[in-house]
Amino acid sequence: NKYVYDFEEGNATMKDLLGSKGANLSQMVQNGMPVPPGFIVTTKACVEFLEGESFLVDKIWPDIQKAILRMEAKTGKKWGSGPTPLLVSVRSGAPVSMPGMMDSVLNLGLNRDTLEYMAEASQNRRFALDSYRRLIQMFGEVVAGLSPDLFEKVLDEAKKKNNLLYDYQIPAQILEEIVAAYLHIYESHTHSSFPYDPWKQLKMALAAVFKSWNNPRAITYRNLHSIPHNLGTAVSIVSMVFGNLNEQCGTGVCFTRNPSDGSADLYGEFLINAQGEDVVAGVRTPIPISELRYMMADMFNQLVDITGSLERFYKDMQDVEFTIENRKLYILQTRSGKRSAEAAVRIAHDMVQENLIGKSEALTRVTPREAELLLHKQIGSQVDVPLVAEGLPASPGACSGMIVFSPEAAVQWNDEGKNVILVRPETSPDDIHGLAVAEGVVTSRGGMTSHAAVVARGMGKPCVSGCEELFIDVDEKVLYGESLILKEGDIITVDGSNGRVYAGEAPLVDAKITKELSVFLQWADEAASLEVWANADTPEDARRAREFGAKGIGLCRTEHMFMAQDRLPVMEHMIMAPDKESRLKDLELLKEMQKNDFADIFREMSGCPVIIRLLDPPLHEFLPKENVIRQQLFEMQREKESPAQKKKILEMEAVLKKIEMLKEINPMMGFRGCRLGILHPEIYEAQIRAIFEAALLVLGERKAVFPEIMIPLVGLSEEMEIFREMVDRIAEEYYKSTGIIVDYKVGSMIEVPHSVLVADKIAKVADFFSFGTNDLTQAVFAYSRDDAESKFLRAYLQKGILQENPFHTLDREGVGEMMRLCVKKARETRQNMSLGICGEHGGNPESIAFCHIIGLNYVSCSPFRIPVARLAAAQAAL
Ligand code: PEP
Ligand code: MG
Repeated sequence: NKYVYDFEEGNATMKDLLGSKGANLSQMVQNGMPVPPGFIVTTKACVEFLEGESFLVDKIWPDIQKAILRMEAKTGKKWGSGPTPLLVSVRSGAPVSMPGMMDSVLNLGLNRDTLEYMAEASQNRRFALDSYRRLIQMFGEVVAGLSPDLFEKVLDEAKKKNNLLYDYQIPAQILEEIVAAYLHIYESHTHSSFPYDPWKQLKMALAAVFKSWNNPRAITYRNLHSIPHNLGTAVSIVSMVFGNLNEQCGTGVCFTRNPSDGSADLYGEFLINAQGEDVVAGVRTPIPISELRYMMADMFNQLVDITGSLERFYKDMQDVEFTIENRKLYILQTRSGKRSAEAAVRIAHDMVQENLIGKSEALTRVTPREAELLLHKQIGSQVDVPLVAEGLPASPGACSGMIVFSPEAAVQWNDEGKNVILVRPETSPDDIHGLAVAEGVVTSRGGMTSHAAVVARGMGKPCVSGCEELFIDVDEKVLYGESLILKEGDIITVDGSNGRVYAGEAPLVDAKITKELSVFLQWADEAASLEVWANADTPEDARRAREFGAKGIGLCRTEHMFMAQDRLPVMEHMIMAPDKESRLKDLELLKEMQKNDFADIFREMSGCPVIIRLLDPPLHEFLPKENVIRQQLFEMQREKESPAQKKKILEMEAVLKKIEMLKEINPMMGFRGCRLGILHPEIYEAQIRAIFEAALLVLGERKAVFPEIMIPLVGLSEEMEIFREMVDRIAEEYYKSTGIIVDYKVGSMIEVPHSVLVADKIAKVADFFSFGTNDLTQAVFAYSRDDAESKFLRAYLQKGILQENPFHTLDREGVGEMMRLCVKKARETRQNMSLGICGEHGGNPESIAFCHIIGLNYVSCSPFRIPVARLAAAQAAL
């Protein structure tokens, strides 16, 4: 039952008991570094104290008294008396870092009498009074719970009255008055005198710092960061050293590497003749640490030595606090330093090169979140523009631009050289040209798999979706935020990494793939068992995917090819075709167009597998919107009817009729995917032919091509059998006519629960499976992927009914269990079956970890998420 440890008794492994600050101080003492003498009261003491054993402080008091006596011996100073009084700080320090959340009290041990000794010993009465002033204020706030304003008001008035700007300019005689006023504040508000006895001060401070573990701020912080509430804080009691005695003193903070770009220089700042809080308070501008070399070369060299050896010991970049007292260096704290995403990669990379850490360790030093930030523009550290709204962080990165409310305006303004952000209630395939030219997208409806979100992620553009509090009036071209109204042309900044939309332009910083990042990701590939493939619909996507390290294309959605401006009319014509003959003509045209698209993608991905999925969405999505036609029709009918117009009107009426015919109550569960291919085999056949002809074309250029044809929305083995037969038959035809073998595969998406349950049967006729977890999640939960997020999912998350958005993070217990079952059944039939995932979860780190666990071969995600996925795949395997 040991509650009190001298620094000499601890080490870095004892963080749970001594807190991380205490454990590191102990370790530094073990390593022979200049740390002011001190001791630690353990987290266990804190926990027991807070559990109602408030007598604990009394119980361990004799141990604390003995520790203070040992401190006297080590420092040669006297607790509570002269000639050189011992002062101590009482600092909180939890096992995990909770910066600034709990309390500390400095300068304990000062009173009317020791103050005089301090003044005498330091030859600096102003210093002694200032220390006493700080003690009364901190003690008043932390121990007695007094408002800081009470003290600040006195200080401000004193400065005003004497025409002084800064605290450090206040002379001793005025400090004398301030101290008196402070003591009065303390006494009048607590109805007791400020404790004179240093032991009493210490005891009260210790109890207060223990209690600060449960202040509301700390509780909130722990909730936010999932830190258990039962850890407790340790308390370090350290003899005070002073950086503010004279010009031979100073204090500062330094990092062993540059925390913003990761370069290996000592980086930091300090102040001469100052206390720690002055550096942070920003009252005086600190001096770069490199200047210390010229001001106190001996101190600088010692600091370089010590920080270097700390970094080698901890094998990580350290953030070190130091104080120089009368030209003697003390280290007050060391911890691993916070760093930017770019610095995290550079440091991990460099430390491997320096043989400080191994590659596996390096791979754990960068979070997937950081890897994600690396590829996108980000908002600089200072955001001083007002927040307009908050929605879902649908596609990471930040951008600024002028608001436009229609894709047409987006295109037009973009042509005029303006940066635009498309703001819509929601987007649809009709808006694609607007999305293509916009810097980013904001929608008031729709979730993480909404059209806007998926397309924006695919394009690597920032997107905030589902900003429910925005009212977007497209007709009036006005956007109503909670407290702001914006109109077309106004500038906004979108941060798709945290879901925020700001009014005005916030400064952005650029992202780049550095040499270090590419080496680092190479290590990730070596460590991972999952491969990372890409969802890519265009040759440009494919090129980018390859650049980012994709090993194949896991999903090429062919419908996007039909949605291009020049193809929609042909597609529309094909759907409207009165007979099979004219439909086949249109399909022949479309086939030629697709063939060229496929050929370009095969060229980009030469040597890698390319999975092409046959047409998936219901046909009505390719027809104009009903209300648009009705509007046009209405206007045409008002005008005088020419024969040409009559014909046009008839055509439009036919389209309306077709739309009526194709209309479904529940299109997501309707006539789409392979169901379409079964009733209109000519559509799928045309696509399959385009794939084979493209493959033959590129094979003719002596490039390796591995086409894999994927059938969407399969639920029955009987369906798959039809397509297996269809593809094999067409392949045979091409083989017969060319004599060239195309190395192709035929596989199925798994996105319908029934397909999971009969996976063993489907596997008999499928070479591979790819989990379409967007649809699978929709079907397993019966949550509409288009509506659920904006309608009820948010409430479910707030109420804690769901822990995570299942369209974002794979739901392991339901959807994941389905996948696990499918893997088992598939491999029972076909032992080495290639299994992957191409739903949006394929780029989400937690979901990737699950894919690793159930033994998939690859994950496929949009090109911009590839680096994140590569890192996540490696971390899953470590
Ligand atoms: C899926 O359903 O997960 C999938 C990849 O297909 P889509 O999103 O195109 O429906
Ligand atoms: Mg799907």
